[in-house]
Amino acid sequence: MNYNKKTVYDVDVKGKKVLLRCDFNVPQNKETGEITSDKRIVAAIPTIKYLLGQGAAVIACSHLGKPKGEWKEKLTLAPVAKRLSELLGQEVIFAKDIIGEDAQAMAAALKPGQIMLLENLRFDIREEKNGADFAKALADMADIFVSDAFGTVHRAHASTAGVAAYLPAYSGLLVDKELSIMGKALDDPRRPFVAVLGGAKVSDKINVINNLLEKADTVIIGGGMAYTFKKAQGCEIGKSLLEAERIDYAKEMIAKAEARGVKFLLPVDNYCAAEFSADAEPVLCGNDIPDDLMGMDIGPRTVELFSEAVKGAGTIVWNGPMGVFEFDKFAGGTKAMAKALAESGAITIVGGGDSAAAVEKLGFADRITHISTGGGASLEFLEGRELPGVACLLDK
Ligand code: AMP
Repeated sequence: MNYNKKTVYDVDVKGKKVLLRCDFNVPQNKETGEITSDKRIVAAIPTIKYLLGQGAAVIACSHLGKPKGEWKEKLTLAPVAKRLSELLGQEVIFAKDIIGEDAQAMAAALKPGQIMLLENLRFDIREEKNGADFAKALADMADIFVSDAFGTVHRAHASTAGVAAYLPAYSGLLVDKELSIMGKALDDPRRPFVAVLGGAKVSDKINVINNLLEKADTVIIGGGMAYTFKKAQGCEIGKSLLEAERIDYAKEMIAKAEARGVKFLLPVDNYCAAEFSADAEPVLCGNDIPDDLMGMDIGPRTVELFSEAVKGAGTIVWNGPMGVFEFDKFAGGTKAMAKALAESGAITIVGGGDSAAAVEKLGFADRITHISTGGGASLEFLEGRELPGVACLLDK
């Protein structure tokens, strides 16, 4: 997969109309529809300001939620247009439709330095189905396409990949940052390269583990998925999470690590509980967990082992919590890992989703090199898979 893509800096946008795919999929209050965090809108500002400053006219677009082709008033992008306008300090013209008459007329009349926002792309079923007519209608409003929504680059949708069949396609500053940092980590990492993987399920990360075993010097596995590996090693795991149908795969991965000389680290002790509950009393167990207990977090010796392993690293990629970090009593391992990354001096990359939320919640975000904005997209990136929304961009 080639991550070396042309960016907004590689094209003269003066006087051009730019179709800009943003990630305005903001969290909302379910009752009132109010935006509860404008982080994603704030993140889009640098690319927008750059384009407007260069004399482009910007036609911004995004999805919001999962309307599945239905027009749902609660999922209108109108509040996003309002917030974006406040942040930019200029009017954001809001279209009442996506590719309809209103949008088309507004796009045609749009002047350099002006910005408009289309209505929620997923109000039209053809967005997610990558309908060619829908993609073409979007493209027809503009001269070039800029992709700045990393969270959706793993989807082959009309606005993420389809439009590139009709327009020259470039990355925006957000997507460029993701590609250059994560792409370099995978292709040419500063070594030692350590991958830390956690979370609930092995099956979600099969290809990630497999791919990283070919690139990393050390692979660390924590979280619920570690117990399938411990079982594969012949340990007792009590009532811990187990994917029995993945035991053979786990054995295969352990053998692959050995064959490639990759250090493969698993928990050596665990904080366990009698039930899956925030109030459960943590019980410290060693390698084997009694029948009536389940592993909920990594123990202190494991924290030491894992922290030591990341200490001299050149690059660290982390995806997935080390335990049930939503419960305070079992958040210690994830906290310790976040701290170890922050203090490592390595290039540190945290995949989106839970581990990103944990790092932010624990206050270590400003000491991490890069926190990816895309959960699913960053996982597929780590799998080494071709991402349709990246593959469609012009190569440098
Ligand atoms: P994922 O979405 O696969 O990254 O998994 C994140 C989830 O894994 C979080 O909700 C954690 O609570 C959960 N998790 C982590 N460790 C464990 C564990 N030992 N047992 C059960 N769930 C866990």
